[in-house]
Amino acid sequence: MKITDIECHVLLVPDVRTDATSSAQDDIVVFVHTDEGITGVGESDVNPWIARACIEAPSTHSMGLGLKEMLIGENPLDTERLWQKLYVGSCMNGRRGAVINAIGAIDMALWDIKGKAAGKPTWQLLGGTPRDAIQPYASLQPNGNSYEEYRDSLVEWVLRARDIGFRAAKLEITLFGPYNHSGMNEKDEKVTEVIAACRAAIGPDFTLLVDVQYAWDDVERVLATTRDWKDLGVYFLETPLWVDDLEGYARLHDESGIRIAAGEWLTTHHEFRDLLDIGKVDIAQPDVGRVGGLTEAMKVCDMAAERGRQIIPHCWKTGISISASAHLAAVTPHCPFFEYLPAELTDSKLRQELVQDELKLVDGKLAIPQKPGLGIEVNMDALKRFKQD
Ligand SMILES: [Mg+2]
Repeated sequence: MKITDIECHVLLVPDVRTDATSSAQDDIVVFVHTDEGITGVGESDVNPWIARACIEAPSTHSMGLGLKEMLIGENPLDTERLWQKLYVGSCMNGRRGAVINAIGAIDMALWDIKGKAAGKPTWQLLGGTPRDAIQPYASLQPNGNSYEEYRDSLVEWVLRARDIGFRAAKLEITLFGPYNHSGMNEKDEKVTEVIAACRAAIGPDFTLLVDVQYAWDDVERVLATTRDWKDLGVYFLETPLWVDDLEGYARLHDESGIRIAAGEWLTTHHEFRDLLDIGKVDIAQPDVGRVGGLTEAMKVCDMAAERGRQIIPHCWKTGISISASAHLAAVTPHCPFFEYLPAELTDSKLRQELVQDELKLVDGKLAIPQKPGLGIEVNMDALKRFKQD
């Protein structure tokens, strides 16, 4: 089989707001076509115009080759060799960042082709240890421009998540810091009060995860705040500190007494090695597209297993990435949950309309995907509606 073409689509929701934090408002969707009529699809969580340029830019020298040019005529089933070819051939422009994010969308599509060609779900070809079911958590991003509105909105979302079948949910509590977009600047203890309000509403038999989106600028503030969290049953605290403060993360691991999670923005397993070994995080959160695709995400899963850490993949995109995450989770026993943006609990039209997937929530869990490839179908009418050019 040979790759004959790579098609990139830049998508945007019609009501895009650049002052909103949700990256589910845009998408780069990549189709990889072959001479045997099999097409794979992938996506990545990065500015889609940048990703498209990374893929379509022509080669200018031997260490600055174009991703698309390197792939035409290649065997799409040769995923590991192709990943290395793209990584090395683009290294003066890439190695990290947007070029790796773009490689991730391509790699996801190659794994889709691989599954379809074999007539098997992609997870069966990934290696790893298969499981019977996987557990998603709902990611909840509240609305509101005052503290009270924000807290009440989050309480309402948690109850709705439970009502549609979730047993776990992540509270995005962004009362200050770089992700804060509502004009609030609340005191640290208000974070604890939001968690307490959600816990009081939902009761003890529901897993709560907390994401403060890089809110704090110093370790002492995190330690002082989380000291009161013991009785709130917080499964993990995500990205309390800025992404580059690995020494700060290590101190939180050593001193906070709660699991620390990070990694949503990182590219390649090399960055995850630093996060695990220098930052000592308890839970690595590779985003399948951003990290460099399933090829690279599996390496991160292996590294976490070797170190006795957990994997809980990040995913804030459409059913394409959600499916890729589900396939990863299906062969990663040290993945207790994976992020699942429920179509019912998001404003993103892209998430709601772009893709049909086979994932169904039953008793808080999802059955392992069984269709060939990633098991998804892109709604081409929706794709045309969201397409930019
Ligand atoms: Mg996050």
